[in-house]
Amino acid sequence: MYKLHKKLLFFLFICKCCHCFKMITNRSLNLGTETAFSVLAKANKLAEQGKEIINLGIGQPDFLTPEHIVEAGIKALRDGHHGYTQASGIPKLREAVCSDIFRRHNVEISPENILIVPGGKVIIFFSSMLLGDHDREILYPNPGFPIYESAIRFSGAKPVPYRLKENIGFSFSADDILNKLNKKTSLIIINSPSNPTGGIIPKEEIDKLIEGLENHPNTMLMSDEIYDQFCFGETRFTSLLNYPSIKDRLIILNGWSKTYAMTGWRLGYGVFPDTLIDAADKLAVNVHSCVNASAQYAALEALNGPQDCVSMMNNAFKKRSKIMFEQLNKLDLISCNDPQGAFYCFPNISKLNFSSLDFQNKLLNETGIAAIAGTSFGEFGEGYLRFSCASSEESIKRAIEKLSLLLSNL
Ligand code: PLP
Repeated sequence: MYKLHKKLLFFLFICKCCHCFKMITNRSLNLGTETAFSVLAKANKLAEQGKEIINLGIGQPDFLTPEHIVEAGIKALRDGHHGYTQASGIPKLREAVCSDIFRRHNVEISPENILIVPGGKVIIFFSSMLLGDHDREILYPNPGFPIYESAIRFSGAKPVPYRLKENIGFSFSADDILNKLNKKTSLIIINSPSNPTGGIIPKEEIDKLIEGLENHPNTMLMSDEIYDQFCFGETRFTSLLNYPSIKDRLIILNGWSKTYAMTGWRLGYGVFPDTLIDAADKLAVNVHSCVNASAQYAALEALNGPQDCVSMMNNAFKKRSKIMFEQLNKLDLISCNDPQGAFYCFPNISKLNFSSLDFQNKLLNETGIAAIAGTSFGEFGEGYLRFSCASSEESIKRAIEKLSLLLSNL
C-alpha cells in the first residue's frame, strides 16, 4: 500500500512538472544569457574560500562614479525627486543628450526622439521587439554581445550572424553583410567599438555598407555605440549618426554605464527615428514606467559637468590595454590583436589544445584568473578568450605572469 502511494505521488509530481513545462513559452526557454555574470559568481565563491582571484571577467569600469555625479544623485533625492517622471525621461536630460550628441558629432537631434531607459541593454530588447517577428531576419555581429542573439530569438525573428574577422582588426566586411540581406531582413545590429573584440569598424567599411543599403530601403540599423568614448587606437571611430541618408532608419544605443562608470545606476538612452519613437515610448510605459528619478538627475550632471573623468578613464584603458596586448603577445601559442577601443583584449588561443570554455574554466580553477570564453559571444568566438582591461596595471601584469606559468606547465 505504501509503495503504491509513493508511486502515485511520483506520478503526480511528473504530471506537475510536465504541466509547468508546457506553461512556459518556447521563446522564454530560448532566452540566452551573459556568461560574465556566472563567471563573476563563480569567482566570488572561490574568493570566499580564500583563493586569490584576479577578475578580468566582468565588463565594467573599475572606477567609482565621479563624486560630482554621485552628489547630484543625492541632491535629487534630498530635493524630493521621488516620484515617477515622464516615461521618456525628464525633458532636461533628453535636451542634454541632444547637446552632447551635437557637441561630439555635430549632428542635430530633437529631444522628442530620445528615450531614457534603465541601461543601454533595454534598447537592444526594444529594437528587437519593435522590428523582429516570425517572418523576419535580424543580422548581428558574432563574436558579439550575447544579448543581441538572445533578444532577436525572443522576438521570434531569425538571428543571422555576420562574422567579425581577426585578420581585418575584428571588423566586418560590408560585402559580407550586404550578401546576407534579403526582403525579410528588418534590422542590422552594429557595435563599434566592440565588446568582446576591442575592434573598431573603419569608416571605409561603414561607407560601403551605407551605400549598399540604398538598395534595401526597408532594412533598419541599430548602432550600439556604448563604448564610443573609449577609443585609443589608430582606427578612428565613426558614429552612424554621421550618415544623414539613413537618419530615418537608424536607432542609436548609448548610455552612462561605461562612459561615467555608472553600471549599477542603470541608465541608458536610445535615439529612435520618428517612425519608431512612439512605439518605443509605449514599450517603456508597459515595461518600466520610467527610469529612477534621482539617477536621471545624476545623468544630467554627468553630461553637463566636467568631462575630465572620461578622458582619465580613456587614458587608463589605453595604457592597460597596451600592457595586456604586449604581454599576451610575448606568450608562446597566444596572439592578440591591438585593441582599438572599449576595454577588452580578445587573444587567439586556438593553438592551445583546449576549447575556449575548457580553458576559461582551467584558468579560473588553477590560477584564479577570471576571463570569459570567446564562445560566450557566439560560435565564431571559439578559439578566443576575452580579458577585461578594466583592472589595475598590477592585476593585469600578475594575471599574465600566472597565465605564462600555466602555459609552461601544459
Ligand atoms: N552593449 C554592449 C556592447 C555592452 O557591452 C553592454 C554592457 O556590457 C551593453 C550594451 C549594456 O550596457 P548597460 O549596462 O548600460 O545596460
